[in-house]
Amino acid sequence: MVRKQILIRGVVQGVGFRPFIWTLAKRHSVSGWVLNHSGGVTIEAEGKQARVQDFISAIRAEKPVHSYISRMDIRPVPVTGIAGFEIRESESDDPPGTFILPDLATCPDCLKELFDPADRRFRYPFLNCTHCGPRYSIIQRLPYDRPNTTMKQFRMCPDCRSEYDQPEDRRFHAQPTACPTCGPELDFRLTDGRISGRKEEALQLAESLLRDGKILAMKGLGGFQLLCDARQEETVKTLRKRKNREEKPLAVLVPDLAAARRIAEISEAEEALLISSEAPIVLLKQRKDSGLAPSLNPGNPYIGLILPYTPLHHLLMADLGIPLVCTSGNRSDDPICTNEEEAALKLGAVADGFLNHNREIQRYIDDSVVRVIREKPMMIRRARGYAPLPEGSHAGAGQPVLAVGAHLKNTVSVSDGNWICTSQHLGDLSTVSATLAFESAILDLCGIYQIKPEVILCDLHPDYFSTRHAFKSRLPVVQVQHHEAHIAGIRAEHGVTGEALGVAWDGTGIGRDQTVHGGEFFLSSPHQLLHTGQFLQFPLAGGDTAVRDARRSAFGLLTVALGDEKADEWILTHQFLPPAELKTFRSMVSKSVNTVQTSSAGRLFDGVSALMKIRSRSAYEGQAAMDLEFSSDGSVRESYPAEITGKKQVILDWRPVILAILEDLDQGKPISFIGGKFHFTLASLIIRLAKLKKLDQILAGGGCFQNKLLLETLIELGETAGIQVYWPQHIPPNDGGISFGQIAWYATAGKLQNREK
Ligand code: ZN
Ligand code: ZN
Ligand code: FE
Repeated sequence: MVRKQILIRGVVQGVGFRPFIWTLAKRHSVSGWVLNHSGGVTIEAEGKQARVQDFISAIRAEKPVHSYISRMDIRPVPVTGIAGFEIRESESDDPPGTFILPDLATCPDCLKELFDPADRRFRYPFLNCTHCGPRYSIIQRLPYDRPNTTMKQFRMCPDCRSEYDQPEDRRFHAQPTACPTCGPELDFRLTDGRISGRKEEALQLAESLLRDGKILAMKGLGGFQLLCDARQEETVKTLRKRKNREEKPLAVLVPDLAAARRIAEISEAEEALLISSEAPIVLLKQRKDSGLAPSLNPGNPYIGLILPYTPLHHLLMADLGIPLVCTSGNRSDDPICTNEEEAALKLGAVADGFLNHNREIQRYIDDSVVRVIREKPMMIRRARGYAPLPEGSHAGAGQPVLAVGAHLKNTVSVSDGNWICTSQHLGDLSTVSATLAFESAILDLCGIYQIKPEVILCDLHPDYFSTRHAFKSRLPVVQVQHHEAHIAGIRAEHGVTGEALGVAWDGTGIGRDQTVHGGEFFLSSPHQLLHTGQFLQFPLAGGDTAVRDARRSAFGLLTVALGDEKADEWILTHQFLPPAELKTFRSMVSKSVNTVQTSSAGRLFDGVSALMKIRSRSAYEGQAAMDLEFSSDGSVRESYPAEITGKKQVILDWRPVILAILEDLDQGKPISFIGGKFHFTLASLIIRLAKLKKLDQILAGGGCFQNKLLLETLIELGETAGIQVYWPQHIPPNDGGISFGQIAWYATAGKLQNREK
């Protein structure tokens, strides 16, 4: 006889882990107990040596679907001779060694009950079990137990209680479990705030509002959502106007996979994502005959589709059977509203009615957005379903740190020294509410995981809200160069060993030389990251205003490629700018007033898009570049001439590319051909540089690599050349990945730099 104590860390709470252990113990005739605590799960198992051994191997082999074991420590303890196996009550003393689980989409068993008239939870919008339902959006502290969630206000009825107490039951210790008798309920209000229906009636009222082509604000899982008929052009236009969202694409909620197929082309990997328990918005190639309102995604061949992921969404979609616009319940760039009062205040002028419920949302979490590149998911917005699970195992710096990220698409990350947890997408830190969300995300992650950071990491940009926040703390601050964070993040995510060419292309980030970077190359080795080159810089008249006005980027490109005089001549003969504006831009650039020099690849794409008259004004960052991608023919395999000059510090000279494009434009060559050739040129340049530096690995990141055509061409060229291309998949390539990258950098290259100091 032996007795073993087994400590398991990882995602082991809220996933049916203890009942699984209980069943396993019975099967292997093992006695002892299992206990949940903030350090994870501890088991004591007693029995014949072989039985206990089998029991332990079975834990790893058969663990519940959503669980994840990061560590398992086993030690012998004295045999007690006590028979039976029991599940003990939680303790909470140790520092948390367990991870919080993200919210999970409704499981097939719950779905069956939801639509079974004989079931006591028939049409109950808040049913869930240990395999599905809310987690991160309701948890207040660890360990994950009902009193530590926003479900604590609901007293379980005897029926729910007995399910909760039965180890054999699917709802054994399902913390958010509820039923129509004891759980949360719906209510419906018009914009006057008076409740005009509850429960089923509320749902019916909301549905008839949507059938009438009106806009509904619905309290969902991680926040309010705005819903309306996605087929009605006028309705969608009204939503855009009221929400103050001019052109950004809107996502569409569809009843089921079959409906999704009628709207978009769906590959195997895309289907797997759509039906996964993470249930993100998946960006898909839209079909021409989709029947959706054109203003959902003007000029964009992709449409974001999402399947129902809560019982409430399932009920709504089963009843309505039509595609619905499903967008975050906020105005322009604010974070999503999470409570009724806030929603009434902020969305009163947007929505025609409110479908509310009385389960509190502890923190707001957006729907995640994912696209598929080469049959692998690429996170565009990492939020519900994924955050705050750790990524990049053992990528931490050996000490507790906090990283506050950049400015746009901000996230924050914490590390206990070993793992890194990245928050959900928080948004651009340019509104008061986004900055509040940022501050509470820091308190949240540090609080839940009880992390006391010894160092705080931030961007080099002095004016970012996140940077100023870092310096306000009393902790030592280490500033991490923006593009170095992008590259270090990719290395950590994929566990890359050996040397690689780092390629960081995005809109903007401050370089160590204080100029505006964005088209950068690095020599990346496991413990070092050296800036080795960039695009030839060009002037941006008006600095940041060029983000919205792609003509300013084009003006800078023309100026450098042709010289002042010839550039002005070209601009006037091609009527590219009105003479008065040309004069203003020219004087700004000549006198270096309100002008920055940049190597930004994002602005290079913008500028080419404007030169080709594809798009000159952007309603959001990257729109001109995106339209260039969408106008380009991906089958072009020709390259414009480009030069690589300089030795140690390489300059990628794009001037011959611009000159050749101007010539092609004058000759009337098709836009799709020129665009395709431009994409191919840039991808080839990266490969040329890798060969020049004798590197057979490439780490490619930064917002520009959300461009599917650019990235897929690069991967393809890499395959031909025997070069392995790594790109961000679990961590977004855009600035949503910066906080993760800051920690990854600090754990590797940063250590060396600190030692040198
Ligand atoms: Zn379930
Ligand atoms: Zn109940
Ligand atoms: Fe960036």
